[in-house]
Amino acid sequence: MTDGWFTETLHRGYGQSFEIVETLVRERTPYQDLTIFQTRALGRVLVLDGAVQTTEADEFYYHEMIAHLPLFSQERARRVLIIGGGDGGTLREVLKHPSVEQATIVEIDARVVELSREHLPKLSNGAFEDPRTHLIIGDGTKFAEESADTFDAIIVDSTDPIGPSIPLFEEPFYRSCAKRLDGRGVLIRQAGVPFFQAGEYRDTHRMLSNVFRDCTVALVPVPTYCGGHMALALASDDPENLNCGRASLDRRFSHAGIETRYYTPEIHDAALALPAFMKKALQSSPPTS
Ligand code: SAM
Repeated sequence: MTDGWFTETLHRGYGQSFEIVETLVRERTPYQDLTIFQTRALGRVLVLDGAVQTTEADEFYYHEMIAHLPLFSQERARRVLIIGGGDGGTLREVLKHPSVEQATIVEIDARVVELSREHLPKLSNGAFEDPRTHLIIGDGTKFAEESADTFDAIIVDSTDPIGPSIPLFEEPFYRSCAKRLDGRGVLIRQAGVPFFQAGEYRDTHRMLSNVFRDCTVALVPVPTYCGGHMALALASDDPENLNCGRASLDRRFSHAGIETRYYTPEIHDAALALPAFMKKALQSSPPTS
């Protein structure tokens, strides 16, 4: 951070910069460097270890897609597990679904939850106080391995594979998630920006394909995840889910009566279309088991 500007350091040799009006938090938590600042252009911004997590201006692109893609891919999801997501944006979107009876959120860093609630209250918008929310401060890898609970959807809203989130990008974690889904339901995880993070994108799909019967990728062009599209990898053991089709999406969306700013059934369908180079990258990394 220099001269009132913050430049992201996620990608080598390329960055995006924000003009800062005021720095609200700068803290070393037990897990990561956490910064929240007010920008001139995009509202407040949450940064972890130099990587932009979310901005008030464009957070709805990502949070709506990571929540509604898995929940509208099936009928009436009741029990949802979020791993990471301590800012509360994904939780807010999950709880919009009237079918959801319980949303368990497992976030490793209590400070992300506390400071987001204090300085970014619009993100969770009361979601942490919802009686359906069950907040666990702990490691998502351990929870997926040791819990006996099962879920209709698992949403892995983690940081990039740096520090505590590295095991969340490995196959043993996906195997634990498959057990938690119990043959049904849908897993979604952020799989990086393929333009800059080709390896993360390809490896995520390959590992998920080793574990689940059906895997696909959806794209969302979040303005402040620089490099174009962000990939959201989807996986399920029930082939009905990821191929449910427009008619089911339309019916489920209208039945749920949810207000959105980015997600629509048309966008859901369109997000599954991949540019040629992204398709090819997945074909060149078939399952290894
Ligand atoms: N939307 C964001 C993005 O893609 O940049 C992710 C937002 S959310 C703030 C990511 C959260 O994952 C962080 O709060 C981090 O503490 C949490 N996290 C990282 N590793 C974790 C783990 N092993 N278990 C649970 N949460 C974890």
